[in-house]
Amino acid sequence: MTTINSELIIDGSLLRENISYLKNKIQNKSKFMAVIKSDAYGHNIKKVVKDVDDLVDGYGVVRMEEAKKIRTLSNKKVLLMQGIYSKDEFLESKKNDLDIVIHNYDQFNIVKDSDNFENMWFKVNTGMNRLGFEINDFFKIYELSLKNKKFTLMSHLAASNEKDEISNRNQFEIFESLSKKINQSVIKSIANTGCVMNFPDHLYDWVRCGIGIYGGYFKDEKIRTAMTLRSPIVNIRNIKKNDRVGYDGRAVAEKNMTIATVYLGYADGLPLNIKDGTPVMINNQVGKVFGRVSMDLTTIDISDIESCAEGDWCNFFSKDLPVSEIAKSNDLISYYFMTNIKSRVKKIYKRID
Ligand SMILES: *Cc1c(COP(=O)(O)O)cnc(C)c1O
Repeated sequence: MTTINSELIIDGSLLRENISYLKNKIQNKSKFMAVIKSDAYGHNIKKVVKDVDDLVDGYGVVRMEEAKKIRTLSNKKVLLMQGIYSKDEFLESKKNDLDIVIHNYDQFNIVKDSDNFENMWFKVNTGMNRLGFEINDFFKIYELSLKNKKFTLMSHLAASNEKDEISNRNQFEIFESLSKKINQSVIKSIANTGCVMNFPDHLYDWVRCGIGIYGGYFKDEKIRTAMTLRSPIVNIRNIKKNDRVGYDGRAVAEKNMTIATVYLGYADGLPLNIKDGTPVMINNQVGKVFGRVSMDLTTIDISDIESCAEGDWCNFFSKDLPVSEIAKSNDLISYYFMTNIKSRVKKIYKRID
């Protein structure tokens, strides 16, 4: 091995498979927006657009710069989900043929004299209490200014991953009853990945999927993690019962053990608090994190691995070890791992076998 480098391998064919799987769930009843905010959840916007453009009907992002970048790569719909915050930004959004979200009166005031609302998505608060008009406030605007207009009505679910969470029913009810009160040509959108998976009867006209595309949705094995985070083993040692490993001696050996060290640490984006016992994969066998993550290094219990050597790859997540595993083991979410990998990790775009 010449240079030690951790790698993040991104496989566009897995993104395509995940999208096809999600689209199959919606059975062409809704249009499919690929949510690619935050550099496509860390997968690189440019590569993702090139890989999936023929499969999707549009894209959702949060920052103007990202929206403009997509516009140079695709003619599909691009929704700037944070919306616009000044007249200049509004003009910029028009120049780039962007759709925009309107969350509140301030944003509405910037756009209210438009002759056309077709590229505007009015967001209403159905219970998330983060962004969006209160229902009554929106209805007033509707009566005054939007009654005969074409536009999109949107909302966002707070707990779509939890099928039995009562808040979903409440949010659907509020959204549905507002939908019934406004003109029927209004386009509607509430579903993210969790909604597509758990509430297929509530998909409306546009679904907005992020995490499922990247394979971070953890309740369906058909959706596969499209990123592989891996780092080579640089050292293997045997330790004795009661020896301690790493900073603060957090991990104490209960028996004689074999410990591998890999060059991936919190400066690469691995959270500091990764717990002992978190599974990783080496040569298709399971090892376990043992000892606190350092800036550049992590130590792995490989006592139960039959054969491995310095230079072998240690996978922290991959298509065979869902990112949701490391997330679940550490009370975090897949989104966090995907968007947290630092530039020091070498990004490689290729099909992984
Ligand atoms: C991020 C985001 C989504 C995508 O959600 P996933 O859970 O990743 O599918 C959808 N809609 C909005 C408004 C978002 O901000």
